[in-house]
Amino acid sequence: MDCLFCKIINREIPADIVYEDDQVLAFNDIDPKAPTHLLVIPKKHIATLNDLTEEDQTVVGRLPLTAAKVAKDKGFADDGYRVVMNCNEDGGQTVYHIHMHVMGGRRFTWPAG
Ligand code: AMP
Ligand code: ZN
Repeated sequence: MDCLFCKIINREIPADIVYEDDQVLAFNDIDPKAPTHLLVIPKKHIATLNDLTEEDQTVVGRLPLTAAKVAKDKGFADDGYRVVMNCNEDGGQTVYHIHMHVMGGRRFTWPAG
């Protein structure tokens, strides 16, 4: 499948992986927007949030669980952090394999741009 993140999962493209289990992978974003900026993805290919089905509940639930785990490991959980999932063009999605951005190490403003 011609999907960038599936290729990272399959080790066809290198990435700076920070966490992996049987269902999810977390790696540093190649173009960080914060001192720590990583992406948490399901190992199952799901193109957008609109493509989720009931059977994806468990794996998708692991995305925020992993975000919080990594935030604790990296030491910014108590200070706070920002998680974002972009959907389709208006949401700013550029890679069509769902992913949770996890950004920490600075203060974020709201609303997002
Ligand atoms: P989005 O715009 O929400 O679809 O986010 C896609 C993210 O993937 C962007 O923040 C990119 O910087 C990031 N990205 C693109 N290619 C790579 C790559 N090879 N390794 C790590 N992150 C990447
Ligand atoms: Zn994929």
